Amino acid sequence: GQCSAHCPVGAIYERDDTRKVWAALQNKDIHPVVQIAPAVRVALGEEFGLEPGTIITKKIYAALRRLGFKTVFDTNFAADLTIMEEGTELVKRLTEGKGDIPLITSCCPAWVDYLEKYYPEMIPHFSTAKSPQQMMGAMIKAYWAQKAGVDPAKVFSVSIMPCTAKKWEIDRNDDMKSSGYQDVDVSITTRELARMIKQAGIDILNLPDEEADSPLGPYTGAGTIFGATGGVMEAAVRTAYFLVTKKEMGDVNFIPARGLQGVKEAEVDMNGTKIRIAVAHQMGNIAAVLEKIKEAKAAGKETPYHFVEVMACRGGCIAGGGQPYGCTDEVRSKRIAGIYADDEKSTYRCSHQNPFIKQVYDEFLGEPNDHKAHELLHTHYVARPLYQK
Ligand code: SF4
Repeated sequence: GQCSAHCPVGAIYERDDTRKVWAALQNKDIHPVVQIAPAVRVALGEEFGLEPGTIITKKIYAALRRLGFKTVFDTNFAADLTIMEEGTELVKRLTEGKGDIPLITSCCPAWVDYLEKYYPEMIPHFSTAKSPQQMMGAMIKAYWAQKAGVDPAKVFSVSIMPCTAKKWEIDRNDDMKSSGYQDVDVSITTRELARMIKQAGIDILNLPDEEADSPLGPYTGAGTIFGATGGVMEAAVRTAYFLVTKKEMGDVNFIPARGLQGVKEAEVDMNGTKIRIAVAHQMGNIAAVLEKIKEAKAAGKETPYHFVEVMACRGGCIAGGGQPYGCTDEVRSKRIAGIYADDEKSTYRCSHQNPFIKQVYDEFLGEPNDHKAHELLHTHYVARPLYQK
């Protein structure tokens, strides 16, 4: 980013990329495609006078089409895909001894940056699964374009994110060009989208409800809860339970992962297999969890956790650096309530139940963690110890 000397993830610099998006939307030779992240749908309404936590997903889809996007996908679908890949990775590490335990989530780019710099020795614990933003980018140009008969060189892929660090993630390394093109061309924030809607004079609240395009649109409740702290953990538990036991979880609500407590710990019983988990959010709470893991390792003791979720922002992405300003814990709680309401009303609440997820594996990807999935949906990390500890 242009401010890399000061802030490695661009999080303290308001970089406006809307002009790039307007240019693409006005270019007749380009096919603009867009994805929206889970947390955007419960916060964008605040820019138009709604209460925090009001879900306006279908109005956002409609507004994106009015702005000129030809295809509207949903990052929640890619969150389901992330769970298929990361859940499989977790189960393989637990049952086949492939890779280090605990597995640590890697879908927050600010956290990726922090770990590579300050805890590079923990890299083997990191999930190799890409974030939902990047999985969607890869799937749009490598899979959907071909299926839709659109030249991927002419696809302009935009993401709407609650996050300023996502602007850095789109060219984090060459894995972000796995389709043979730049997988995501531009990432803009919730605030930038609100500005574009206002500039275009779109009366978003009075638009008719519209649906996302398929197959990379329809999502499950597990995909939507990625937006809140503990959501990736809860979504992964729902699918890992199925992968380990071959049975669906009776009650899919995993309450210990929810809420604003800085570090949450719990144990899940998967038919006799006991999995200890930790969820940490807000950077200041993360070191304690990592130190506990390192201490146990150094003392030759059993690992305190099998699976750890980390999000850099307090409350998770619902309170990301690209969301409407003025976030308090009250606002966080309302946005989180919106996220879980979206989950509750979903037809399917587990990623592996999404019929379109099954379709993309059948038609294109093969099995989770297989060769093709690895090529497109996984990444790697490098130690970048810029600072002395
Ligand atoms: Fe971005 Fe914050 Fe979400 Fe991390 S937790 S992905 S920094 S919004």
